[in-house]
Amino acid sequence: MDLLKEKIIKEGKYLGNGVLKVDNFLNHQIDVDILNEMGKEWYRIFRNENINKILTVEASGIGVACITAQYFKGAKVVFAKKSKSSNIGNDFYSAKAFSFTHRNTNELIVSKSYLSEEDRVLIVDDFLASGEAFDALVSICEQAGATVVAVGAAIEKKDQGGAERMKKRGIRVESLAVIEKMDDDGTITFSD
Ligand code: 5GP
Repeated sequence: MDLLKEKIIKEGKYLGNGVLKVDNFLNHQIDVDILNEMGKEWYRIFRNENINKILTVEASGIGVACITAQYFKGAKVVFAKKSKSSNIGNDFYSAKAFSFTHRNTNELIVSKSYLSEEDRVLIVDDFLASGEAFDALVSICEQAGATVVAVGAAIEKKDQGGAERMKKRGIRVESLAVIEKMDDDGTITFSD
């Protein structure tokens, strides 16, 4: 998606160690216009897939998921929680994911009420790096018997292997901007 790539070049900042800072428009301050374009693009790709659930993980994925869901009429957003709130009870699916940015392991939790074998799910998030977060979300869908139509990241960092990991699991990947490499001088190279 050219608009997103331009935005990354203009406003993204490579921090080193494989970390790209895009909190000017994606995961601190949010540019709703670019999120809208992302939602439109995923709708263009998946409009015939009868998606009824958009699954993500708190916190950065929620904005992306909600704006995307507006294009899939009637689709609900479900976000995995990173901690058990007192009202979730014991009826939940869970899977562990190591966080690339926080360097800790989270148990991702989704209530059994909000995912079932009738669901056709698009999983979205801001980044696809090593694929830990998506892997856990796919596991949660499997526990529920739901169909994963695809995973989609706004930004995929190809060299961190997450897309390969998903494809090996038989999961379709549709990222909107695929970064081939980031150099120490700040140069960002896209795959296509
Ligand atoms: P993965 O689980 O694929 O290794 O990493 C994905 C998660 O880590 C995303 O939820 C995202 O929030 C965070 N993340 C991974 N790489 C980056 C990055 O380069 N920049 C930022 N801001 N977050 C990242």
